[in-house]
Amino acid sequence: MFSTMRFDVDGIFEIKRYCLAARIGKIRTKSGFLETPYLFPVIDTRRQFVSTQELNELGFKGLITNSYLLFKRKEIVDDIHVYLNHDGVVMTDSGGYQILEFGQVNASQEEIIGFQEKINVDIAVILDVPTGSNANYAKAFESVQSTLNNAQTSIKLRTREDILWVGPIQGGEYLDLVKVCTQRLSSLPFHILALGSPTEFLERYNYEKVLQMIYTVKLNAPPSRPIHLFGAGHPAILPFFVALGVDLFDSASYALYARDDRYLTSLRTYRLDDIYEFPCKCDVCRKFSPKELRSLNKDNRRRLLAKHNIFVLAQEMAIIKQAIYHGTLWDLIQSKAHYHPALFRAFKFLINHKRYLSKYAYLNGMGRSGLFVLDHERPELLSIKKRIKEHMLQNHSIKKIAIINGQKISSIHELYKKINQIVNEFKTILIFNPLIGLIPFELSEIYPLYQLDVENSVSLKRAALNSINFLKRINVEEIYVDDELLLNLFRKTFHAKVQLLTKHNNSN
Ligand SMILES: [Zn+2]
Repeated sequence: MFSTMRFDVDGIFEIKRYCLAARIGKIRTKSGFLETPYLFPVIDTRRQFVSTQELNELGFKGLITNSYLLFKRKEIVDDIHVYLNHDGVVMTDSGGYQILEFGQVNASQEEIIGFQEKINVDIAVILDVPTGSNANYAKAFESVQSTLNNAQTSIKLRTREDILWVGPIQGGEYLDLVKVCTQRLSSLPFHILALGSPTEFLERYNYEKVLQMIYTVKLNAPPSRPIHLFGAGHPAILPFFVALGVDLFDSASYALYARDDRYLTSLRTYRLDDIYEFPCKCDVCRKFSPKELRSLNKDNRRRLLAKHNIFVLAQEMAIIKQAIYHGTLWDLIQSKAHYHPALFRAFKFLINHKRYLSKYAYLNGMGRSGLFVLDHERPELLSIKKRIKEHMLQNHSIKKIAIINGQKISSIHELYKKINQIVNEFKTILIFNPLIGLIPFELSEIYPLYQLDVENSVSLKRAALNSINFLKRINVEEIYVDDELLLNLFRKTFHAKVQLLTKHNNSN
């Protein structure tokens, strides 16, 4: 049963692609790889509405269940994979949540760790003391201290090196405590860090609070550690958390909503009674009309609703992954922001943290498509601007430059044609874009900047002024522009040094 694998703390996670702070990555476990971002469906071993086989068919390669409940019920489990009829990855939670609910658990740290090792889980959580959302500072401080003490003790109690160990981060809304807890756990051998206590904030639609907690964790955890967020499972908010850098989720939401006759969609939850037509084509929604589903007995109805709900979550995770791959996660978030005031506030939070989000855009360019840019808030713009500035400063002795108004370019062919006419004359050719400023032509080939669609309301003057200030800094002496609009804008501050390209060409 024991494998001979041994997992180094920083050697289990391979990041393949970034978009904002989101990442597509691979986590190695003794039962195979898990691709992130990933959501573990919570398995209730007593009343499971959706079978593990059905979950496998939907692409769920990893499941999570509660090890404390199995332990307490004295269930006979030799191997959790056999018990759950699932040969993929199995993660087990400790009794932390039960402590939050009932104040205590009847199990020691030693028992919980020993039990998880015995039943051969792949990813195990130590027994922590959750802060919850109603704790005052003193209580929160205590929960962090107990959790950190537990973390320290747990390391000595472990006997298996082929299990990934999860360090639970507590502190709740007290960000200084979240910070200390993250830093301390990061210095200990935990493969995955998991942020606890968000559930009650999520239930109150206080997404900003949870985003703040995640942001604090991300600033203080090494990038090589996957970050798990406990108990977040509504598809509407998931891409926001992923954008900030959450890699793993677990949720019983699909079953909990089903129990209340609630139907999940990507944007909101409906009561089954309020549905006129199912906006989904999963097996359940194709087979039943809302009226037919309502007429079924409670058990059947819940089972089918849970099946639909988990389908929506599987689909949402796929949509998120594709958006990361394509470089369009920001667009996905923006489109969701208008559906609920809480989502809009979450969007605002991300806008306010765009400097952090743009840090990662650097790592794999701009994605594959052109960007449709509605405003100056798009985080990717910051990293593009930075890259361009660095490039320009390396060529700081440029005296004479040509600027093409990129707003009028509709295709790369048109751009090439323009450039071919002047390429021998000018060492430096820049393309003016009201959002980004000046883009050196050679960079426009690396990044598909010509594809930037710019909405007209963007202030042209402001962009021109910024560009001029930059050109002054690098000591440009002569500027040739290709249209009257730029001529007028640039001439106001550069005076006689700005000329039209056509005149220049004619005089040659
Ligand atoms: Zn459906």
